[in-house]
Amino acid sequence: MHDDRTDLKGMSLAELEAFLSRWGKERYRARQISRWIYRRFAEDFSSMTDLSKDFRGELSRECRISSPPVEKVEASSDGTEKYLFRLEDGESVESVLIPEGDRRTLCISSQVGCALMCGFCATGAAGFRRNMTAAEIVHQVCFAVKRLEERAERLTNVVFMGMGEPLENPREVSRTIAILLSQFGFGLSGKRVTVSTAGVVPAMLALAKEYPVSFAVSINAPRDEMRSRLMPVNRKHPLKDLVAAMKRIPLQSGRKVTAEYVLLAGINDSEQDAGDLARLLKGARVKVNLIPYNAHEYGDFTSPPAEIVDRFRDVLLSAGIQTITRERRGEGIRAACGQLRGEAEVKTP
Ligand code: SAH
Repeated sequence: MHDDRTDLKGMSLAELEAFLSRWGKERYRARQISRWIYRRFAEDFSSMTDLSKDFRGELSRECRISSPPVEKVEASSDGTEKYLFRLEDGESVESVLIPEGDRRTLCISSQVGCALMCGFCATGAAGFRRNMTAAEIVHQVCFAVKRLEERAERLTNVVFMGMGEPLENPREVSRTIAILLSQFGFGLSGKRVTVSTAGVVPAMLALAKEYPVSFAVSINAPRDEMRSRLMPVNRKHPLKDLVAAMKRIPLQSGRKVTAEYVLLAGINDSEQDAGDLARLLKGARVKVNLIPYNAHEYGDFTSPPAEIVDRFRDVLLSAGIQTITRERRGEGIRAACGQLRGEAEVKTP
């Protein structure tokens, strides 16, 4: 049966305050509840012992705290874990936890499926189902933080690099970021929250004005004709506009925008492509993340051999561009970049 009580998960502190003030409650109540939801992961109101019994009763009648179950946890031999969440309407999404030294990075989804149809990405191959709500997006973080706490570990970074294009769902993504950065939420610094985009230029600039988060831009091709073929979004927001926007993002000193570049053998991996990319990025404060293509059954690309990847990197390095090759993580559990699909391949009746 549909539960029409107001879901408090997904509300930022400001939203909780506004909601409770309509009930005539004091402002500090919102901070208490925010901490219960995002720091202690309460799933009902009975545990909120610093609230009066009457207030807790009132809350349980009118409100709820959604908590989509995790149906599947898969672990890769490199320590990477993938979680499959079952959402209330039966859809599913995935998140990936990536341990790396002292870092614990959670890669979260922001849409069920994706509408952008980038030719090399498995999420896009299944098409677009719907936007996720802030409650669903932030729940992925609640789940991971709680799981890490059980092993006395802490989440250090969140990246919007899972399923979907975060900037095609700007409202819910922005509400989520408010919670991630709030001291009554997850208290993460904007440096440690990265929004990755295929290049939705206006939404990127708007979000950069709103929050001091980090940005990653999936460039993937150094020239428009190639990029438009691989990423149809380029027809709307061509490289010139995209790179101009990357240069306009306000950055704290020493910080850079990440340019992601998926290497596809024989397509975008030549020395000339590397040279063109270096020229394209000239004057931008960027670091390049090279991502050798991860294979999946919805695309017929292949990953270039290591020598080609190194040659591509060296061209960028000699042009003075900080460049790293992203290590492949989550092998064996289809948790690498571009492989997340939820259960899109399984038809639900
Ligand atoms: N829509 C956002 C968030 C997804 S991030 C974006 O495009 O940035 C996923 C990253 O993985 C993107 O940089 C994308 O270019 C890359 N990617 C997609 N498919 C891939 C694949 N098969 N192998 C390697 N990287 C891939």
